[in-house]
Amino acid sequence: MRRRCPTFLVVLSNSTRDKLVDTNPSPHNYLPTGDAAGVIVIPAASPSVEPIPGADDDHKPGHPLQNEFVLFHEYGHLLAHRLKIWSGNNWVNELVPNIFMNTYLVQSRTDLDFVLQDRRKNPRPALRYTSLADLDYLYGAVGAENYYWFQFQLERIADFLAQGQTMPGIATKLQSEFPAGRQKQETLDELNGRFSRIRAGFLEMAGSLAGRRPSRRTTRRLAGMRLRGLRGRRLPWTIEAPGPSCSHCSTELLGRYSREAGLPLGRWLERRSNSLTAAV
Ligand SMILES: [Zn+2]
Repeated sequence: MRRRCPTFLVVLSNSTRDKLVDTNPSPHNYLPTGDAAGVIVIPAASPSVEPIPGADDDHKPGHPLQNEFVLFHEYGHLLAHRLKIWSGNNWVNELVPNIFMNTYLVQSRTDLDFVLQDRRKNPRPALRYTSLADLDYLYGAVGAENYYWFQFQLERIADFLAQGQTMPGIATKLQSEFPAGRQKQETLDELNGRFSRIRAGFLEMAGSLAGRRPSRRTTRRLAGMRLRGLRGRRLPWTIEAPGPSCSHCSTELLGRYSREAGLPLGRWLERRSNSLTAAV
């Protein structure tokens, strides 16, 4: 399988960023319409990151290639879009780019092996929101730190699922399991069935991430959002900066929130237009 995925890579310098309103401080992407090129934006001054053990000097925090691997995550979003891979579960749409990223790193970027080793060997302590169901419902609203924790966990799961796969092989399997157009939110058991055709053992690997429902905390928060939205007050859930933001993720998130709040998306977008310039 050979697919071209034309891409503009934009490195947002500090001086340009200072001239813009409300820029997104994290790497993010814009999906193309049709066969146009997608856009990946990497801010030159990314939020500070924790050092990854084993990183060479160029990949240490504050150095030019810190978090270089995130570029491949963003590219994974463009690739999934081009291959018409999509899921009705938010977190799956974040897992898929990590599967592409992982497969690419294993096959072609052994110099970045320290990233994979870190994910395999150095677990991160749990934060406020801990289940994939929480991520599915709250997405970026779990807050930046918790979102990055989820991304770390999704990278671990991707590493498990991508074992022994080739890029064409995994792409074909993901296309078959998650064809765009069927966007129903699925249960973990349904998803486990899909992942087991890629590699058996997803639920065991996910461990405590694999709760069947959102936590009470998440349910309460969703209820609070709904109440406040219907009362017409300032909506409390924003794409917090510095936050995780792949552009389409944010769009999906906004759609979901607007449904939760009982507001038409257009009206909702109007209300939030100031904070949206960076998100969509
Ligand atoms: Zn993403």
